[in-house]
Amino acid sequence: MFAQATLETVLGALPAGYLLLDLSRQVVFVSERFSIACHGRALPAAGRPLPATLLPQAVLQRLDQPDDKGLTLPADGLLLEWLVTPLQDGWLISVREDRHAFRTLVDNSPDIITRYDPDLRCRFINNTLRRFSPTPATEHIGRTLEERRLPAQLKDAIRHNALQVIASGKPQRFISELSLPQQLYVFESRLLPEFDDAGQLQSLLCIDRDISEQHATRQWEADENRLLEMIANDRPLPEVMGWTCQMIENQLSGTMCSIMLLDETGERLHLAAAPSLASEYKQAIDGLPIGEGVGSCGTAARRGEAVIVSDIAHDPLWQDYRELAAGNNLAACWSQPILAQDGKVLGTFAIYHDHPCTPKQHVLDIVRRTSHLMAIAIQQEQRATALYRLATQDGLTGLANRRHFLDLASQRLREASHHGKSFSLLMMDLDHFKRVNDNHGHDGGDVVLQAFAQCVKGTLRASDLVCRMGGEEFAAILPDTPAGEALVVAKRLRNAIAALPIAHQDHTIPITVSIGIASLSPACRELGELIRRADLALYQAKAKGRNRVCVAESL
Ligand code: GH3
Ligand code: MG
Ligand code: MG
Repeated sequence: MFAQATLETVLGALPAGYLLLDLSRQVVFVSERFSIACHGRALPAAGRPLPATLLPQAVLQRLDQPDDKGLTLPADGLLLEWLVTPLQDGWLISVREDRHAFRTLVDNSPDIITRYDPDLRCRFINNTLRRFSPTPATEHIGRTLEERRLPAQLKDAIRHNALQVIASGKPQRFISELSLPQQLYVFESRLLPEFDDAGQLQSLLCIDRDISEQHATRQWEADENRLLEMIANDRPLPEVMGWTCQMIENQLSGTMCSIMLLDETGERLHLAAAPSLASEYKQAIDGLPIGEGVGSCGTAARRGEAVIVSDIAHDPLWQDYRELAAGNNLAACWSQPILAQDGKVLGTFAIYHDHPCTPKQHVLDIVRRTSHLMAIAIQQEQRATALYRLATQDGLTGLANRRHFLDLASQRLREASHHGKSFSLLMMDLDHFKRVNDNHGHDGGDVVLQAFAQCVKGTLRASDLVCRMGGEEFAAILPDTPAGEALVVAKRLRNAIAALPIAHQDHTIPITVSIGIASLSPACRELGELIRRADLALYQAKAKGRNRVCVAESL
């Protein structure tokens, strides 16, 4: 038989830790290596009863129900492998770190786990790294931070935080980014100091957790809020749409976005925003007719549903536009129609890639939400435009209404006065209009009013401003026009009106107009005065037999 001392020497030399118990569960022997099971507590003394909490419950059960299979249990971030061997006069309990299982655990962790020496030489890195970088782990192990192939920004972040951990002995938490051509990864990193028994810093453990998706969600929420704010604040549509494209391009790196709007005919798409597409391509697709087989956007607008083209080079929907796309390095295009509340197509929102690819679910969600936000922005603008029109235009003729005219006219009069320029005002009233209504009905009267408005607009310059003051009374301002010239213009207008063939039902309605003119002069500088004088001149024209032009006499 071996002596007890020999047994202890043998057990002490083996790679596992050993605890020998007698039948009364008193400690007979404990090896140094058993300390890994004691989690920093002192080893139990020989001759003492087994400390109550020393062994995990599952191991204690094995004392009563021996089993020759090992037990793997986690402890303090390690996996310990236990084996309980019943002896004739007691038990031999062995414990060792299950390195293989530990390694499996570490390599299957979703986190990148790196251990550094205090001089930031990489001592260990798990296989999770492979998900983010093509460089094998072996390329990193043994190298200092400087020597490793990592983006400079990432190195700086690690170095900065590691120095703080070393100085303070306390863990650090920081956010770092890894920007790869197709994807931006965001990590939440924890850097933990590891000390030896003497309290000396042994190493640093870095755990990088990929929080790209949460980060993208947070970013999306912040961007979406900003976008809603822009819409609520009535920012111009081109600005909102340009910003939207940039926001999505930032979030989905490697993409290019476009927003197209359907024109009033409902047949053609016009480019509203595409900050990253080449101008040659933009020109080519502006005014694209909608229809089946007109690329992703034309088809999506026609169908009223999303069209995902993962590979432009082989998709029949792009047959006629394949070369154009290839020439601009576009290989995939996913288009989502922008739909109004009533389901009407307003336009399309599209994402392009320079390589064939299919969108993931979260990208499709982003595309859908974005096109929904664009629908809100477009409809908001349409409502605002309609409201503005209602507030400033005459519903029958589309000319400026009286209030809007007075606002604009006084502004232009001020400018003319300020710059010493000439300025004339025409007041126009249709002659015997009551008769038109009597002879041709109110509808006939309306047709005359519309035809008159068109004729005046067509006869005057684009810079002149015409308005319907009310009923069959109209006004026009002619900036930069002295009284003499205004008289020529007014006569031309009177002749044009008199010659106007206004067809209504089976009749032609003859019509004439009387016009009074007043012009800016030292004695007449206010709009109210100008209107009063033009009205007087108009009254004279009526009194002299109508269908004529009179100029207010300057005082
Ligand atoms: P005068 O040559 O003296 O200007 O005679 P008039 O008949 O044109 O003038 P009066 O002021 O007597 O009549 C104007 C008519 O215009 C009366 C009104 O019914 C008609 N009117 C006003 N607004 C509208 C409108 O929006 N549509 C139609 N159809 N008629 C209108
Ligand atoms: Mg009148
Ligand atoms: Mg009249």
